[in-house]
Amino acid sequence: MSSIPIITIVGVPNTGKSTLFNRLTGRRKALVHPQPGMTRDVFRMPIFLDGRPAFLQDSGGFFLDSADISAEINKRVLREAQRSDLVVFLCDGKRDILGYEKDLYLDIRRLNPRMITVINKVDDPERHVIPSSYYELKTELVDISAEHARGIETLKNIIVERMGEGYASEPPASSQSTRISILGKPNVGKSSLINRILNDDHLIVSPIPGTTRDSIDLSLSRNGQELILVDNAGIRKIQKVREDTESIAVIRAQKDIQAADMIILVLDLSRKIDQNDLFIAAQVLKSAKPVVIAANKWDLVSASKAPHLVEQNIRQRFHAFHFAPFHLVSAATGKNVFRLLDSSEQIHRTLHEGVRTARLNRVLSDIYSEKRLITSNGRTFKSKYASLESRRPFFIRLQTRYPDHLKAADEMFLKKRLTEKLDLWGIPIFIKVSASSRG
Ligand code: GDP
Repeated sequence: MSSIPIITIVGVPNTGKSTLFNRLTGRRKALVHPQPGMTRDVFRMPIFLDGRPAFLQDSGGFFLDSADISAEINKRVLREAQRSDLVVFLCDGKRDILGYEKDLYLDIRRLNPRMITVINKVDDPERHVIPSSYYELKTELVDISAEHARGIETLKNIIVERMGEGYASEPPASSQSTRISILGKPNVGKSSLINRILNDDHLIVSPIPGTTRDSIDLSLSRNGQELILVDNAGIRKIQKVREDTESIAVIRAQKDIQAADMIILVLDLSRKIDQNDLFIAAQVLKSAKPVVIAANKWDLVSASKAPHLVEQNIRQRFHAFHFAPFHLVSAATGKNVFRLLDSSEQIHRTLHEGVRTARLNRVLSDIYSEKRLITSNGRTFKSKYASLESRRPFFIRLQTRYPDHLKAADEMFLKKRLTEKLDLWGIPIFIKVSASSRG
């Protein structure tokens, strides 16, 4: 794929795709811009958003101008949508959503969740009521009028925002694929979990060279995303590690963690949590990488234990992982194994999308009204302005009147509420407090 992101406008006929295309490209008439390897009916043009290049393509070129969408054309649209870095799904705000339009929307969202839903033909937002059927899509709606050039700047800003830091600043590989390390002490079932995943018929797995000389990583294509399972032999001989911190095992563990974008931490429910589990967990925590907890061998204990008590018990031992999704799994029976990948995908998506500043500030203000947070100096804590400073690690900067730190318990409360309200499951949040530049 090109390292320049591709944005595709998708919509059923007469939603105004070419008009929007022309607005965004600043052309009066869309040009047919053939690219090598593409058939000539794809409109694709380079544009600049916020000073950065992107390709804009209009699915109108390969979408028949009639409501009769043949399977072939449908497939084409879906394929283009899937390989895009962002899909702008365009609807007509002058009518309700159509049945096949909604199906197309849901199909595309499944293939590529990086999507903006745009309601066109809203010429006068004061008086125009968007049909309620669009709200059933349960997504943010951006209203514009392509014809009258209304809302175009806002849409451009949202596009840039949604492309996020991955746009231009990050190398394409890391924004396209997520590297997952499956970690845990020996015999917790790491290899069994990997085998279970590999043997699933619904997955396309291809081997790719790993980070070390003789390792092979596994690339999984799932829901339009690439997940890479990092080949690692697991952290062996942890017992020895504690005597000799320079041992190969420690270096290896750290390397496995460093090589990954996120970690699936595997525990064995048939054995007690011990120093080895805690040691690995501490390493993972230190890395600030996203984590999913897999409590494996659930088949061995499910008859005698209640799931919520098992989870409660483990969460108590690993309280620093309060943000991590937790799954009771069994590599032996396959139970819940794919939830691990679902969670990983969700984390990948969240990291890619980030959090919009307005939403972050709104949620924070809700949290402040929920509970009075206190600083180490005994003052009430409230941020005047908050922004997401980086995503890896996930750094939120809070600007306050006095740059006092929060009391530890209140900082923990704040982080937990942010995780819940912003759906940041799996991602460790870091908070930085600084004096507001606005006085
Ligand atoms: P690794 O060292 O972490 O890679 O662990 P393995 O995958 O080699 O598994 C260690 C042992 O646990 C093997 O005998 C597996 O058959 C067994 N095992 C792994 N997962 C499960 C599970 O979910 N249930 C049961 N009953 N046994 C499991």
